[in-house]
Amino acid sequence: MRYTAGEIAAITGGILYGEASAPVSGVSTDSRAVHEGDCFWAIKGENFDGNDFAESVITGGGRCAVASRVPAKIPAGASVVQVSDSIAALGLLAGDYRGRLKAKVIGITGSVGKTSTRNMLGDILSQKYRTHRAKKSFNNHIGLPLTILETPRDCEMLIVEMGTNHPGEIEYLTRIARPNIALVTAVTEAHLEGFGSIEAIAAEKASIALGLSGSDSLLIINAAMPVLTEAASRLAVPTAAFGFGGDYDFAGSDPLAGIESGSFVIGNTRVCVPLAGRGNLENALAAWAVCSSLGMEAADFAGFMQNVRAENMRMNIIETPDITIIADCYNANPASMQNAIDYLGLLKESSGRLVFVAGYMGELGSETQRLHRKLGAAAADAGIDLLLAAGPLADVTVNAAREMSNKLNAYSFESTEQLCSRLEEYICRGDAVLVKGSRSMRLEAAVEKLEKL
Ligand code: ATP
Ligand code: MG
Repeated sequence: MRYTAGEIAAITGGILYGEASAPVSGVSTDSRAVHEGDCFWAIKGENFDGNDFAESVITGGGRCAVASRVPAKIPAGASVVQVSDSIAALGLLAGDYRGRLKAKVIGITGSVGKTSTRNMLGDILSQKYRTHRAKKSFNNHIGLPLTILETPRDCEMLIVEMGTNHPGEIEYLTRIARPNIALVTAVTEAHLEGFGSIEAIAAEKASIALGLSGSDSLLIINAAMPVLTEAASRLAVPTAAFGFGGDYDFAGSDPLAGIESGSFVIGNTRVCVPLAGRGNLENALAAWAVCSSLGMEAADFAGFMQNVRAENMRMNIIETPDITIIADCYNANPASMQNAIDYLGLLKESSGRLVFVAGYMGELGSETQRLHRKLGAAAADAGIDLLLAAGPLADVTVNAAREMSNKLNAYSFESTEQLCSRLEEYICRGDAVLVKGSRSMRLEAAVEKLEKL
């Protein structure tokens, strides 16, 4: 990006103090990471107020800051743009820059599979196009604008992710990103707390279509969720569906989820997916829907797919000398728990015991109890030998598992720390251990512990 402080003031409706022509070639919200040419964007967070650092940034050599409080001293040559709401202002600037980009923008939302699909698409498209994708989980009202603003001018494909836990967030984000292709990976009972019903979740996800732009714009949805098809049909936009085992616009057949990888067929081409879990086959089919819409041939897609790599903390298969660890501890909701449990079930023949380290699933609102009971039952149903549940409602999960099966051993722990301190007592050579829970559980600590046993 290339703006002057004066242009930023005009686009954001802010008041300019100091030098109008100060050039800006990047944005940083972290005062410690302001590089030459960056504008420091002061945001008020939970722990810090960026406004407190604006003065030290511009007196320390930074040329420009956007803030809601104007620092007492503005050195010669520097500038400050005063705005009332710096997050909204960031969205306005990103929206302006989006309009200047020639790249096709692919927007992704969904209850599960956003980040996995974003990275799969990034790995595929970058083999053919100059591609930029969101980093980490940059998918909210700060991360999405920052992703757009750091996109190189000559980018051909920009892949952004949009997350939500309250109604209206997706519409706000999609109107900034104005995607040419909008993808909804799945709709499930995640973030029920903020929405109340699955219908409300589906409507929120489908609203990604409200920002569609360009003559060939397309909404792509998962055909397996009637509630999503319904929500999309109300929007009257060009829509296509992807799915297995039906006559869909982007149809896959014969999905095989194996231990190290999986595959499925599109047309006459079998696509091998070098990732674990049935969910990744769905994500791969969603990625095919996007690539096919962009004009890619199935054979090329299958070739590019071979270079896709698993995301950190998502279905990572780690072999230690003694055990197999399935580290899927980035986050958890009922759908992704089931996906991981199904995968663990595949290891029944080749492993010793199946062990499930199950953390709490957050943000499920009034359904929390019921869905933790269902989790325990699903674990027992899958033939798991040992269940170690940790965090809030661990006893609910354990009791449900015990009610379902008297063959499985199940124990509950108050916290990840308590679990980690006792893990050694429970794990044996030959075990396959799945570790999964919501982000708040930070179960990567358990993975680290298991790696050292
Ligand atoms: P978050 O909102 O937490 O950032 P996300 O939508 O970005 O989630 P991912 O990070 O891709 O989702 O995956 C989250 C979890 O869901 C992982 O455990 C992953 O293995 C599982 N998962 C990914 N895709 C699917 C899918 N299509 N169906 C079921 N589970 C999936
Ligand atoms: Mg994500």
